[in-house]
Amino acid sequence: MTDNSAHRCYDDLFIGGRWRKPATSERLNVISPHSEESIGHAPAAGPGDVEMAVDAARQAFDHGPWPRWEPQERMRKVEELAAIYARHLDDMADLITAEMGSPRSFSRLGQAAGAASLIHLTLAAAQTFPWVERRQGVLGETHLRRAPVGVVGAIVPWNVPQFLIMPKLIPALIAGCTVVIKPAPETPLDALWLAEMIEQIELPQGVVSVLPGGPAIGEALVRHPGVDKIAFTGSSSTGRRIAALCGEQLKRVGLELGGKSAAIILDDADIEKTVGGLKTAALMNNGQACVAQTRILVSERRHDDVVDALADMMSALQVGDPADEKTDIGPLVAQRQQHRVQDYIRSGLKDGARLVLGGEDSPTERGWYVRPTLFTGAVNDMRIAREEIFGPVLTVLTYTDEADAIRIANDSDYGLAGSVWTADTAHGLEIAAGVRTGTYGINMYTLDISAPFGGFKQSGIGREFGPEGLAEYVELQSVLCKGKMPPLTDFREAAR
Ligand code: NAD
Repeated sequence: MTDNSAHRCYDDLFIGGRWRKPATSERLNVISPHSEESIGHAPAAGPGDVEMAVDAARQAFDHGPWPRWEPQERMRKVEELAAIYARHLDDMADLITAEMGSPRSFSRLGQAAGAASLIHLTLAAAQTFPWVERRQGVLGETHLRRAPVGVVGAIVPWNVPQFLIMPKLIPALIAGCTVVIKPAPETPLDALWLAEMIEQIELPQGVVSVLPGGPAIGEALVRHPGVDKIAFTGSSSTGRRIAALCGEQLKRVGLELGGKSAAIILDDADIEKTVGGLKTAALMNNGQACVAQTRILVSERRHDDVVDALADMMSALQVGDPADEKTDIGPLVAQRQQHRVQDYIRSGLKDGARLVLGGEDSPTERGWYVRPTLFTGAVNDMRIAREEIFGPVLTVLTYTDEADAIRIANDSDYGLAGSVWTADTAHGLEIAAGVRTGTYGINMYTLDISAPFGGFKQSGIGREFGPEGLAEYVELQSVLCKGKMPPLTDFREAAR
């Protein structure tokens, strides 16, 4: 590996805890979305690397010490990793900014510090997690044991790469699983740097592998019969494909998918505070956030005031170099993403929505930027209201009354997140109960990374974070005993 601040180059893959020559000579050249210049490279994993990594993980799970250690012993290893990780937070944030264009202010908090906090919060949840318990059953006492689910394939996208690896890797490790991580081809460098840190904690052989690559490598991991569970974050279309493949093998699968979240602004909301809150809730990470509040629902009565305030806020956003502390909106991850977002802007215009601000033309000569763009006059069956744009584009829709606002919020294939903005927080809770989404905010939207996170409907299956996130990496084993069950304190967890 060579390292020059945010420029990193890797020639080897991390397979089973060791750096090995990749099976093919194919490389991932990581291009800065700001400068369009190379910031590093990494090997692209091939099918042979998947074979080797899964074999190593299988061997480590079936015969190695890792799943047989007590959870506390594994937690000590994870604590060591947390300590190493904590020494590199700013550099990790800067590397992610260089790889995919997240503004530095967001990277520091939402990328690197968020990932580090997830390690600590998972450790805290594991302290009180009921690894073994006793329950009174109809036939006597049942010994209930939570066993590791097995070999886990963790597939993540590029938008918050470390923040999405951690809620898979850390609970899986603590539970006693072995893990093959498949980062997105746009962000291999941060993942391989994490592998270097994992190397330092000297896990038993085979426990962790990191294989950057594209869909074919992801799919090889999903199809591999040696993998017991796939933990996936990404688009709903890929999630559907992965779920189908896992279904064929009855493989466990967790899916964290897309969203098209609605922010309902009630008539009693303070518009200035609401729009101030939406600056991050709707536009964080250049709008490349699954939970972005991109459908803004407002009544006819407040429409003009809200649109004016949103236009003021969005026209003041600083667009530019994501490494600049003052930047609000950086470039999109790739030219293909820039073109995709520009296509959505064209579709909004074609479908008859009114462009208040922004547009499809690029604000810079270089870099994959899109102007912060605001539409109004949209209806909920337009593509800009139904589909996930994944860029700094907001769509205002009007409702007739609260019931209509809830109806529009729910008229979506997605169910990931939402928010209500109101002076009456008790009423906000009632609105939350009417909206079918996995998380919800009242006068805010952000994630609490200790609260269960996941989607209703096509936004996913399963939950990450906290004890519910740990529970995704265990299988329940109920043990009955003829006669008296041995006392829990004397029970030895042998022969797993
Ligand atoms: P994507 O589905 O195209 O890719 C995600 C990952 O899956 C990448 O690593 C990719 O290489 C891999 N992949 C693609 N096709 C595959 C296949 N057939 N089999 C196995 N792996 C495959 O998603 P994207 O466009 O890169 O990421 C953005 C999406 O992720 C958005 O829809 C966003 O909402 C979603 N997301 C969801 C959450 C959440 O927690 N719910 C968080 C962040 C992002």
